[in-house]
Amino acid sequence: MLIIALVGLVAAAAIAAGSRRYLRRVSHSLFVPNPYHRVENKPQPRSWPNDRITVTWIGHSTVLINYHGTTILTDPVLGKRIGLNPIGRATLGIHRITEPALRFEELPPIDVVLLSHAHQDHWDFATLKQFGAKTTAVIPTGCEDLLPKAWRGRIAVLGWGEEIRLVESASLATRALSSKLETRSLKQIQNRKSNLSAPASAGEVAKIQNRAPCEPSELTIAAFPVNHWGHRVGRRRKERGYNGYLISGHGRRIVFVGDTAHMLDFSRQVPHHTEGEGSPERDPQARGEAVDLCVMPIGCYTMSHNHASPEETWDMFHQVQGRYLLAHHWRTFMLGPEPDFEPMERLLAASGPDSHRIVCKEPGGTFVLPAVPVPASAKAEPAF
Ligand SMILES: [Zn+2]
Ligand SMILES: [Zn+2]
Repeated sequence: MLIIALVGLVAAAAIAAGSRRYLRRVSHSLFVPNPYHRVENKPQPRSWPNDRITVTWIGHSTVLINYHGTTILTDPVLGKRIGLNPIGRATLGIHRITEPALRFEELPPIDVVLLSHAHQDHWDFATLKQFGAKTTAVIPTGCEDLLPKAWRGRIAVLGWGEEIRLVESASLATRALSSKLETRSLKQIQNRKSNLSAPASAGEVAKIQNRAPCEPSELTIAAFPVNHWGHRVGRRRKERGYNGYLISGHGRRIVFVGDTAHMLDFSRQVPHHTEGEGSPERDPQARGEAVDLCVMPIGCYTMSHNHASPEETWDMFHQVQGRYLLAHHWRTFMLGPEPDFEPMERLLAASGPDSHRIVCKEPGGTFVLPAVPVPASAKAEPAF
């Protein structure tokens, strides 16, 4: 009886996801246990200094960033499975093959949860339920209803071309990337905010408290388009947004992309900021502005219409003149048929003599951004 019920739930999940491949992966995960890789290196984020940028790869698209004292966690998924939650806290679906480098209780206090889109491997209800009132969620448009009812922190909704500024001990401001959009974007965000239950005061979207800032500063998170899709299930359901993000401040820039197919114009989508100037401009390559760290996906590339291959991600890294690349979305939840370690093997092959730019090659790896920027990667011929 239990088996029949499980099969029924799996079938329902597959129908909901609209994918035979999903059904195969879930079935495989249920009845043929995958290897379960242990993490050898345990990060110690509570001891990281707050005068620099330190990152660790926790697994899949979950990356912890200490950005000069502000803690940012991308697409937090820490459970043993992703999928449906038919009964209580139990999750029915694909299980992870590598344990998370940090359990939830091992995380430091998180200031910002940065969510790229609503797919199950990036937006996990079981994990999101665990955050407290001091964590702000930055989410794409059309996803407000997907935050758990138990979410107690503030919420900032960003569409493409919108950004938030995290100002120490001050209200979090919003503005658009072009003056043409500014009024509309501000109004839209405030309207969305009025429909939410986050406990922010009027006109205030969020407030971030740096616990031990080294100097007064601000941090900006800007949303930009990627080549993916955003529906939670199926393809013709509720329209939901999907974002890439540029995090900037203290003269440094980090790009986070949860999922994307290859983009020939990736560098044009990543906004350019010059601190202290007015409207930011696009095309960082044209402005000679490098990205210090790219956090970008390399797995699931047999679905090439919405996932980049390692070689394509390497090309996009070059497009924005990346200095370092943290490659995620592999070795955790096997959503495609590629072997466990093939994505990194292909990325290392594509990078050739520049392989030293690839950081956190294993879950639990920790990387400190050098205080003095190294030269950006030269634009290379595509490796594919
Ligand atoms: Zn996705
Ligand atoms: Zn994904």
